[in-house]
Amino acid sequence: MDLKKVVREIDDFPIPGISFKDITTLLQDGKAFKYSIDAIIEDLKDKNVDVIVGPEARGFLMGTPVAYGLGIGFVPVRKPGKLPSEVESYDYGLEYGKDTLEIHKDAIKPGQRVAIVDDLLATGGTMGAAAKLIEKLGGEVVSMQFLIELEELNGRDKLPQYHINSLIKY
Ligand code: 5GP
Repeated sequence: MDLKKVVREIDDFPIPGISFKDITTLLQDGKAFKYSIDAIIEDLKDKNVDVIVGPEARGFLMGTPVAYGLGIGFVPVRKPGKLPSEVESYDYGLEYGKDTLEIHKDAIKPGQRVAIVDDLLATGGTMGAAAKLIEKLGGEVVSMQFLIELEELNGRDKLPQYHINSLIKY
């Protein structure tokens, strides 16, 4: 399936010079959405993953159906101040700005095999931060899964120690 056809490109969003990949059009297309989630599940099914982590907010949309499909749990990674219990925090640089991510301290158990799922890999900052949080809690990041990879931003090169799979490459 040509998934690129259902991703909408919006120029100069959220700031001038960025060509934003809008995945809401893919999510609206039931066949494309199912095909995408199934492809991620297929790639993960033999990796003995214990838990899926998804970064706010589009990582929730992609990560929860993957966790459901594999019959395993889902753990949200969120922006500061959103998680109600005790958190671990990490600062990172984004494609357009800076941010902090948090995870509940008791959400990952030492030794758990974790796959992180997000909509898009740009500079790799978000994924690097999510991986750091998981590793601080003693988890092992066994895979990073993306709908979209922006290859020219070389996010993959920042994450050489991890298995990375992406379904659509720009
Ligand atoms: P990175 O941290 O790899 O530079 O940026 C990836 C994060 O920013 C992802 O969580 C993703 O949701 C968001 N992001 C950056 N650019 C885009 C884009 O063009 N489209 C979408 N859907 N998300 C983006």
